[in-house]
Amino acid sequence: MASTVRCSTESTGHYHSPVAPGTDLAALAWEAAGCTRCPLSGTRTQVVFGVGDPIADLMFVGEAPGRDEDLQGEPFVGRSGKLLDRLVLEELGVDRSRCYIANVVKCRPPDNRDPKPDEIAACRPYLAAQLELIRPMVVVTLGNFATKLLLETDLGITKVRGSSYPMGEWQLVPTYHPAAALRSGGVVVAEMRADLIRAKALLGWST
Ligand code: URA
Repeated sequence: MASTVRCSTESTGHYHSPVAPGTDLAALAWEAAGCTRCPLSGTRTQVVFGVGDPIADLMFVGEAPGRDEDLQGEPFVGRSGKLLDRLVLEELGVDRSRCYIANVVKCRPPDNRDPKPDEIAACRPYLAAQLELIRPMVVVTLGNFATKLLLETDLGITKVRGSSYPMGEWQLVPTYHPAAALRSGGVVVAEMRADLIRAKALLGWST
């Protein structure tokens, strides 16, 4: 099958990737399911493409699938995901079916190590195409990997969270990865809640 994803490699300041005409999320997921663009294809159980409303106003982008996600084929189904679901329900009043959830890297890195730059680069066109097709109003980046990639910054999450960033047609709201909130608790959870409230205001969802 000819690739449906075309990605510009130059940095434009906006995370944008033209998608071949006629492509939809299902076609993209089908293409990703057979992807061998990086070595993670040799160790994954399955590709964890993304889940949720294909025309969601709110999108979450995490880092990479873990063990539970690799086995179940859905992002954020383990402990981090349970916390994310709870915070989204409590602060935004919706469940995950109203959002779209994806990761920077679609295949599990062995032993949950960090994704490598070449793996992120190989997977980047899929995330760019997801953004192009879903056209969310707000993207909440969860942790350093998603934030650095989409905001095109080297600054860490603690430096950039607390604000929103216009990205052309959508706004980026950086927050902590829920795994960091599970590790650190209190203050980090409270700051994640504040970031979700920031996203809710940008969406115009009533309080
Ligand atoms: N952590 C992530 O970044 N993504 C998942 O899907 C699960 C855990």
